[in-house]
Amino acid sequence: MKLGSAQSKTDPIKFVEVALPVPLNRVFTYSVPEEELSAPKLGQRVRVPFGKRRLIGFVVAVHSELPDDLDVDPAKLRPTIEFLDDEPLVTSEILRLTEWTADYYASFWGEMLKAALPAGMNSEKVRPKRQKAVKLLDPVSADNSKELTAAQSAILSALEDAGGELLWTDLLDATGTSASPVNTLVKRRFLEVFVRDIHRDPLSAEKLPESPNLALTDHQANALGEITDAIDDSTFKAFLLHGVTGSGKTEVYFRAIRHTVAIGRSALMLVPEIALTPVFSRQLRAAFGATVAILHSGLSQGERFDEWRRIRAGEARVAIGTRSAVFAPLKNIGLVIVDEEHDAAYRQWESPFYNARDVAVMRANLAGAVAVLGSATPAMETFHNAMHGKYTLLSMPERIGGRNLASAELVDMREVFKRAGKDVALSTELLDAIGETAERGEQIIVLMNRRGFSQFVLCRECGETIKCENCDITLTFHRRDGRLTCHYCGYNAPAPKVCPQCSSEFLYFVGEGTENLADQLEKKFPALKIDRIDRDTITRKGELEKKLLDFAEGRVDMLVGTQMIAKGHDFPNVTLVGVVGVDIGLGLPDLRSAERTFQIITQVAGRSGRGEKPGRVIIQTYHPDHYALQRAMAQDYEGFYKEELKYRENFRYPPFVALASIMVRHRDVSRTKAIANALRRSLDAANPEKTVHIVGPAFASIARLKNEYRMQLILRSESRRELRKILDIGLADAEERGVELRFVFVEIDPVSLM
Ligand code: ADP
Ligand code: ZN
Ligand code: ZN
Repeated sequence: MKLGSAQSKTDPIKFVEVALPVPLNRVFTYSVPEEELSAPKLGQRVRVPFGKRRLIGFVVAVHSELPDDLDVDPAKLRPTIEFLDDEPLVTSEILRLTEWTADYYASFWGEMLKAALPAGMNSEKVRPKRQKAVKLLDPVSADNSKELTAAQSAILSALEDAGGELLWTDLLDATGTSASPVNTLVKRRFLEVFVRDIHRDPLSAEKLPESPNLALTDHQANALGEITDAIDDSTFKAFLLHGVTGSGKTEVYFRAIRHTVAIGRSALMLVPEIALTPVFSRQLRAAFGATVAILHSGLSQGERFDEWRRIRAGEARVAIGTRSAVFAPLKNIGLVIVDEEHDAAYRQWESPFYNARDVAVMRANLAGAVAVLGSATPAMETFHNAMHGKYTLLSMPERIGGRNLASAELVDMREVFKRAGKDVALSTELLDAIGETAERGEQIIVLMNRRGFSQFVLCRECGETIKCENCDITLTFHRRDGRLTCHYCGYNAPAPKVCPQCSSEFLYFVGEGTENLADQLEKKFPALKIDRIDRDTITRKGELEKKLLDFAEGRVDMLVGTQMIAKGHDFPNVTLVGVVGVDIGLGLPDLRSAERTFQIITQVAGRSGRGEKPGRVIIQTYHPDHYALQRAMAQDYEGFYKEELKYRENFRYPPFVALASIMVRHRDVSRTKAIANALRRSLDAANPEKTVHIVGPAFASIARLKNEYRMQLILRSESRRELRKILDIGLADAEERGVELRFVFVEIDPVSLM
């Protein structure tokens, strides 16, 4: 499907092709009603009839005559109902990018376009916010035939002070007058009332910081030079900026953006979570003013709509945002930055599955722009691309100010168990270190990658664990509300007093979570102010920022939390990081368990010793010999990369093969099996040469989730093209045989196989 030809001024548009958010691999042609012939534009939203329904889609091609290759009967075409926007929300560049993305991820263009707009933007309810405003007219035209009253003079001077224009309500507030003198002035042609678009600005209430004028280190200057040279070349180039934690990557991003704006192009920066960059987004606003737009799910729908429209109108030329901001309609884009590029938050976890990091590189590619992927712990695939010349590697191996990376120590929890004669959550080594650090007035971070109080509830009589009603998952006990909660679907129920299976009273609460750990630490260190950060304590907008600020400004001595605390923050007074129970992840049967464990430990260790004082990291583990831990302890990325690469090669995982996961999800277990088996037969028929290795169907490691059974097929091949070919033929064959593909979810380059 190619984009339609540019519309010519003379011929009216009589036909449009529309991408609709339906799981069908095609676009739909509609006729344009007589009275709308001048309306249609590429990228515009349009409401159309679809079967018995009405759907909103995007115009992806416009025609004055039906092209011959479009096999439709003009007499049977249904007319469009309504074109929704005066100005299209997406540009032709974004149409092309979403088309590519849908194709790459074996997804559908209309669904991709829907996902490309930030949540809420698809709602037709979101419109510009307009308010009544008043402006001064040229006094030449005014009637002066009468003296002005005191109130009237006050109104005129308030408007003069404000530069000639004020919102109606602001004018009345400022002068303390009623509406009637304003109306009189309007009648006498001193003033005019009009309607103004209000910009709902998410950063308006913020204090803006001054940007310090730093002298770049040699490593920073070198990285920046390479990036700006490439931007000036105006051809696609992709960089991996591999800089250890605290090496000053942010300053490089900032200056690269400044350069891009200075030469008249626009810049996009993606971040995993906007809450992690509160300082940086304000810094951007301070430096670039209203040309900065910010896009993330924490904004109100109105704010998001306005930010999007400011970008679309070219008013904002720098956009910073989370995943779907990769589709922000910036024009003449020169630079795309992906900070913490390894982060799983770039992956959309529902259909259409896409990875914003990879889409960002493609966007730069299509636009002749520069992509910069930054991380201290790059994803395996990214570093592999850098090793093989696909990306240019820029290294920043030293911390700013010559500070050393914290020294790390492993505590073998098997020994701790022997010494104590029972399971304990906190070793004496870590407890002693916490005591010493607190005594010096320095701060502490303890990472525990599981929230809640107890991991699960076990009956000692019958051995049952208490599971979720909807999922094949044990429920986690949360003490604050006394309930058992499913971390996957949110199901919760009061914690029982007796076993639901056998009525025994011997219920055991097994394994710690953050709630329990914070509790134990509070008992051991009653004098310390301890705060907890996880998804249970962060429920409202702005709460994470507030907690991080309290810690940064020393009102809190110790932070206990999940990986939310591991990322990107700069706390100069933190000199001890404890890592508790994070190596549980190493036992998970997933291709990325080692990589994720390495990343999270390296990232959290990077929070220690960022100021003048040296830092310490203590990792409690049951797997002291595992290479992910050994390498994380030494902050040795390349060492980890080499060992992990061997594992990936042995097991035929990416980057050595292309991988696709097909998940069949259905509420009925036998239907799940039937669909999965039928799929396997179709895929086998499509794959006579066996160029693609197919595994399954088998139940996924979470066999039931949110009331649906889950069976999985895994496809891998040395050739990405073969993989896609067999997949497409197999799916088409299955569809022809009546397999219900709406229960089938295809993931290309899956991040996890669980
Ligand atoms: P990273 O993102 O690589 O972990 P940051 O960008 O957070 O590192 O930088 C670490 C600290 O060093 C920040 O406080 C930052 O303001 C400071 N910094 C960055 N560049 C310089 C420089 N050239 N001179 C002095 N301080 C710098
Ligand atoms: Zn029981
Ligand atoms: Zn559940």
